[in-house]
Amino acid sequence: MNLLITGGNGFIGSNFIRLILNKYPDYKITNLDSLTYCGNPENLKDIEENPNYEFIKGDVCDINAVRQALANKDAVIHFAAESHVDNSIRDPFIFTKTNVTGTHVLLEEARKLNIKRFVYISTDEVYGSIENGSFKEDDPLNPSSPYSASKAAADMLARAYYTTYKFPVIIVRSSNNFGPYQYPEKLIPLFITNLIEGKKVPLYGDGMNVRDWIYVIDNCDAISFILHNGEIGEVYNIAAANEMSNIEITQLILKELGKDESYIQKVSDRPGHDRRYSISCDKILKLGWKPKFVFRNALTDTINWYKQNSSWWKKLKRC
Ligand code: NAD
Repeated sequence: MNLLITGGNGFIGSNFIRLILNKYPDYKITNLDSLTYCGNPENLKDIEENPNYEFIKGDVCDINAVRQALANKDAVIHFAAESHVDNSIRDPFIFTKTNVTGTHVLLEEARKLNIKRFVYISTDEVYGSIENGSFKEDDPLNPSSPYSASKAAADMLARAYYTTYKFPVIIVRSSNNFGPYQYPEKLIPLFITNLIEGKKVPLYGDGMNVRDWIYVIDNCDAISFILHNGEIGEVYNIAAANEMSNIEITQLILKELGKDESYIQKVSDRPGHDRRYSISCDKILKLGWKPKFVFRNALTDTINWYKQNSSWWKKLKRC
C-alpha cells in the first residue's frame, strides 16, 4: 500500500510511521510535514534512510504541495495540525488555517484523485466535557476551545465529504496520548522533564480535570487497525480506559521520580478548561481491537525514555 501521512514529524505521526514500516515492510510512506516548532526531523532519524520512506516539506494548506504528495497514493492518514490548546487560546487563527483549511485542501485534492481511503485524526475533545457517562460516536459535538472547535470543524467537513460525495472518509477520535517524542509543552512530558531538571510542575486550577490516557503505541496500533478494518463513512472512538484526574497523574509522576508534592505549583485555571473527557470504545472493541499496554508500565517506560533522551528535549525546552 502507498500511504500519505501528514504531520509525520510530530508526536503521534512519527510513532505511527515507525509502527507501519515495522509491521508492513512492503508499504511505502510519503510524509508531508511543514516542520512547525513541534515537527522535528529527529523524531524520524532512524528511518530517514529507509527506501520505503519519503519526506516532503510542505504545508497542508498549499494545494500544489498536497497534489504532489498525493500522487499514486492508496490512502491518506491526516495527522497534521496545530495541537496545543494553550496556543489556541493565545493565537487562534493559525488553528483555523491549519486544522480547518488544511484539512479541506487535503479532502478536496484527495477526492479529485479518487483516493481510496482517507483517515482523519480527530480527538475526544470535539465532544466537549461530560459529567457522567461516556460519549458515543453519534453524540453531538460541543467543543470548548479554539483548538477543539477547529478539530470539530474539520471532523464535520470530513463527514460532509462522505455524505455529499461518498468520498471514503473514516474518522478516529482518540483520547489523550502519552509516550516517546511528545513535545515537552504537553502535561506528561512537561512534568517529567521539569522534575528531571529539578523544577516545579504547573498544575491548572484544582487539578481535578479528568483525562483518559492512552499510550501512543496503542493509539497508533488502533489507527492502523482502523485503516485496514474500519468501515468507510464511520467514526471510531479510541481510548484505553485510563481515566485519571490531573492531580492523580501528577502524583504518579512525582512518585516515580522520587519527588514530593512541594514540587506542585498550582496555577490559575485555563479559560474554558473542560472538566472531564470520556468516550465509549465499544464500537472499536466490537470490531476486534483492544489496547495492549498496561498504563503504569507504559508511564514508567515513558519516564525512562525522557530520562534517556535528555538531548532530544533539552533543546526544545530552550526554544
Ligand atoms: P504534534 O503537534 O506533535 O504534531 C503535529 C505535526 O503536524 C508536526 O509535525 C507539525 O510540523 C505538523 N504540521 C503542523 N501544521 C502543519 C501544516 N500546516 N502543514 C503540514 N504539517 C503541519 O501533534 P500530535 O500530538 O502528534 O497530534 C497529531 C494529531 O492527532 C493532531 O491532528 C491532533 O489533533 C490529534 N490528536 C492528538 C492527541 C494527543 O494527545 N496528542 C489526542 C487526540 C488527537
